[in-house]
Amino acid sequence: DLALSTSERLVVGLEAIIDASAGILSAQSLAETVRAMADALLPIVPYTSLAVYEVDWANRVGIPLLATGRYVHETLASNPALDMSITGKAVLQNKLMYSGPGDEDLNIAVIPGTPTSDLESIVVAPLRVSGQVEGTLNIWREDDDVWFKPHELTLIERFATLAAIAYVNSMQREQLRTQALTDALTGLYNRRHFENTLRAALEDGRRHGEPTSVAFFDIDAFKAINDRFGHACGDDALCAFALALRAHTRAGDVPCRTGGEEFCVVLPRTDNSQAAALAHRINAAIREAHLGPSRDMTVSAGVATAAGSDDDLDQLMLVADSALLMAKRAGRDRVVVADQSS
Ligand code: GH3
Ligand code: MG
Ligand code: MG
Repeated sequence: DLALSTSERLVVGLEAIIDASAGILSAQSLAETVRAMADALLPIVPYTSLAVYEVDWANRVGIPLLATGRYVHETLASNPALDMSITGKAVLQNKLMYSGPGDEDLNIAVIPGTPTSDLESIVVAPLRVSGQVEGTLNIWREDDDVWFKPHELTLIERFATLAAIAYVNSMQREQLRTQALTDALTGLYNRRHFENTLRAALEDGRRHGEPTSVAFFDIDAFKAINDRFGHACGDDALCAFALALRAHTRAGDVPCRTGGEEFCVVLPRTDNSQAAALAHRINAAIREAHLGPSRDMTVSAGVATAAGSDDDLDQLMLVADSALLMAKRAGRDRVVVADQSS
């Protein structure tokens, strides 16, 4: 290795970057991508610590997405100000920053809880996406022989180009995944996610002998809101209902919009009486909140529970649906709870 010339090292490094690209680009999540970036760089340009930051332009700070090495906690706990850090300098000047032992730059904004050291060096490479800086790749050497060599700086810069592509790629993929499972109007989960979640909850319930419940909600006389006040008012009413549903469900519950003015909440590890209580709470809360354009929105609900031994999704949906229908037929603005044994 010592026999290699600088340009030979550069070639070896560039080849290694190309080899690493397939792995980084195929990572399945943002977290995995960022982790793969850190792992891929280590053999190409050795370092003792690494961090990846995302730029928060609204607050003019860097937000750490990943930290490895010496000061993980301290790094993750601190948001370097763009106007007062070497990270910010790299962002604002849109160029690679390098600071070695003795440089003033190193101490302009030391991460709280980490030593001010004259014996480390840091490289901050901007992660650029079509010219705009979206983040930075920060690399530290904190041991002996801390200087980065010129060919290493070139390699880091090239690596950052690849890393930025991988980063944006996986961000967009994650966004698409989220969009595919959410309802655009209310931000609640959609029908697809409802069914996936219910299926998983039923399986989990059967494994652990725990009941799973569902609560179906259908807004009363919703068509009249559209007819009298227009579709936009109807949309507002749906959003108001969704907010109330969110506010009155517990942490493990999964509220979803499964159709026009139809909402379902998956209640994992919840028995019949707990589910009934939740549906009653929501039914009362909607009445008392005076939602909708004429301030008199009400909702009907049907509740059903699968015993821990049972994981028949279709059966559970059917039972909840007929409970809801009974609530409608009995005059609306009420909850019908299907008997668990039915
Ligand atoms: P019921 O008390 O029996 O539930 O009566 P309803 O009027 O609520 O029920 P119906 O099923 O007759 O009407 C539902 C209406 O919801 C019809 C449809 O136009 C409206 N709707 C469905 N999706 C949307 C939406 O995204 N926005 C708005 N504004 N209206 C919607
Ligand atoms: Mg309906
Ligand atoms: Mg309705």
